[in-house]
Amino acid sequence: MKTFCGRANPTTGSMEWLEEGEDYDYHQEIARSRYADMLHDKDRNAKYYQGIRAAVSRVKERGEKAIVLDIGTGTGLLSMMAASAGADFCYAIEVFKPMANAAVKIVEKNGFSDKIKVINKHSTEVTVGPDGDMQCRANILVTELFDTELIGEGALPTYEHAHKHLVQEGCEAVPHRATVYVQLVESRRMWSWKKLFPVHVEAEDGEKVLVPPSEMENCPGVPSVCDIQLNQMPSSDFSTLSDVVKMFSVDFSKPVQSASTYYRVQLEPVKSGKAQIVLSWWDIDVDPSGMINCSMAPYWVKPTSALQWRDHWMQCVYFLPREEPVLQGEKVYLTACRDEYSVWYNLQKARADEEEHKADVCVESPVCRCRAHLLWNRPRFGELNDQNRTRQYIKSLRKVLKTDSVCLCISDGSLLPVLAHYLGAKQVQCMQPSRIDLYHPHELWQAFFKANHLEDKIKIIEARPELLKPSHLEDKKISVLVGEPFFTTSLLPWHNLYFWYARTAVSTHLASNVTVLPQSASLHMMIVEFQDLWRIRSPCGTCEGFDVQTMDDMIKDSLNFRESKEAEPHPLWEYPCKSLSEPQEVLTFDFTKTVPQHCLSTEGSVKLLRRGKSHGAVLWMEYHLAADISVSTGLMQLSNEKGNCEWNPHCKQAVYFFSSVIESEILSDPTAVTYAINFDTKTGEIAMDFKL
Ligand code: SAH
Repeated sequence: MKTFCGRANPTTGSMEWLEEGEDYDYHQEIARSRYADMLHDKDRNAKYYQGIRAAVSRVKERGEKAIVLDIGTGTGLLSMMAASAGADFCYAIEVFKPMANAAVKIVEKNGFSDKIKVINKHSTEVTVGPDGDMQCRANILVTELFDTELIGEGALPTYEHAHKHLVQEGCEAVPHRATVYVQLVESRRMWSWKKLFPVHVEAEDGEKVLVPPSEMENCPGVPSVCDIQLNQMPSSDFSTLSDVVKMFSVDFSKPVQSASTYYRVQLEPVKSGKAQIVLSWWDIDVDPSGMINCSMAPYWVKPTSALQWRDHWMQCVYFLPREEPVLQGEKVYLTACRDEYSVWYNLQKARADEEEHKADVCVESPVCRCRAHLLWNRPRFGELNDQNRTRQYIKSLRKVLKTDSVCLCISDGSLLPVLAHYLGAKQVQCMQPSRIDLYHPHELWQAFFKANHLEDKIKIIEARPELLKPSHLEDKKISVLVGEPFFTTSLLPWHNLYFWYARTAVSTHLASNVTVLPQSASLHMMIVEFQDLWRIRSPCGTCEGFDVQTMDDMIKDSLNFRESKEAEPHPLWEYPCKSLSEPQEVLTFDFTKTVPQHCLSTEGSVKLLRRGKSHGAVLWMEYHLAADISVSTGLMQLSNEKGNCEWNPHCKQAVYFFSSVIESEILSDPTAVTYAINFDTKTGEIAMDFKL
């Protein structure tokens, strides 16, 4: 079987599909998987174990044999819990082959091979009967098939099928039930991830205000879930308009229906305000009594209980189709609609009659009609709405633009061309090549320009930089080349260096005295101790007394696959860390020149100045727009005494996890970490190596 892996090429800015051979063993999937994080989730594991023990006891007390079905066994953990709790037999189903193989090894190593049968199938393919995968139906159903949205990994259809075909009626289910909670809030910060706020520009001839077209104002956006570490959102960034209410529950011990449906609750606003966002999370009652409860509630809901950090389950942010003013005490109705895999929300002011309200509940999942939500993802909306950032670009454009400037912008979905026009450039063009997921960005831009009476002012060139022709530029040479730079295919910070490649490709069109904005970029690096993020890549050893080292080894092998240990992108505003070294500039990229043929490398050492565990290095880019004006896509601020870092909230930074952690203690003779970093100009990738 051939496997194709998609990856953006940072030198061309486009997606390439690489064919992987027979030996492709899903290393990326394993290396970046959430298994380690789940194994480190003590709260989850201990509660599942408790629930499984109780379920096995209940079945035994009835004088029955305990036959367990564990759907999605992963490492085999929940089956091993059941077996050691006294279950007579466990069927452990796992669809992902490398994991099923690992489960076999782990089960054997822990001495449960006679009690646990690992079946490498999707649960809906499992057969029951004397010649089947399972001898008989199970009377205990154990699963952990939930994502942050609860149902996004297909838990509902899996349960529906299992109740019909794989388990007995009246079976015990661990967990027993799940409940989804919601809270209505107003939040300028989170709302800025969904819609474009007006952009104010002080121009020579007065203030200009850039507004979004009306289609964008009323667009429901995209259906994909917005899952974040809500515990990192300070309470000053939102205002709660309702209490926390139960939205819906699913009882896993009874037949489950996965067909689309909706749920509705009445809310009495505790405060007047603008309803924009529904925050949501869930909990599971592992046992029927509800005594063993595992909750994803954020910090302000249960301020006294200790929060378990986890990354495999977070909280959800849902955007209402449009902002609704609500009054304190004046009831509103919140509807949750769901299909098999996702949930979305609507708010109604009045309760219509049963028949009527069926029509008014929007049962269709949100579909972006304005195309802006296809062009800009949520962090990108946030970035474009960041007024401080916009001011830096305006200030620098003002420095470099002249009335006779011929300006070309190379960046995806950028507002820079409009800013350049407002600030007086004579001729403005921007390159917006079509993308697979967004044909004809042209149409979106036309709507945008129309709303701002800019129809003939800015020209969109739907070509790729290497295909730029003099006619695109009305036979003029470019005097100002601008970019943010930002490209939708970029995964790691340095992938936006595609701007440099594009600049190189359009070289022949540049005037001899061209100004390039940004004039340069630099790569910065800092050694950090993570508060929690280290867990996702750290070996677990034993989990609830079971030896899971096989899993640790498997993750380690995958990380070292082809000896290409790589940095990975993480939005660090969600993952607090402490700096252990000074931030250091390690490489610079001169955009006034073309991309050189040779690689750019550097070596050096960085001193550990603070006591702590060195989990890894964080890397980010800074762009030098014009003299004295820079923007950082990484570190924004560093508090010196404790080393707490503030990160750009709209960007992902690169994290390179060290394979071994060192603890720095002494400050008088600081330990040094040596590094070697290489930017390969042929591939656009950065390779790095650290020695502790
Ligand atoms: N039970 C383990 C792993 C949970 S992760 C634990 O609690 O630690 C969920 C696993 O279920 C994944 O490995 C995924 O591949 C698998 N999976 C999801 N749906 C499945 C299905 N319907 N049939 C078989 N495996 C499934």
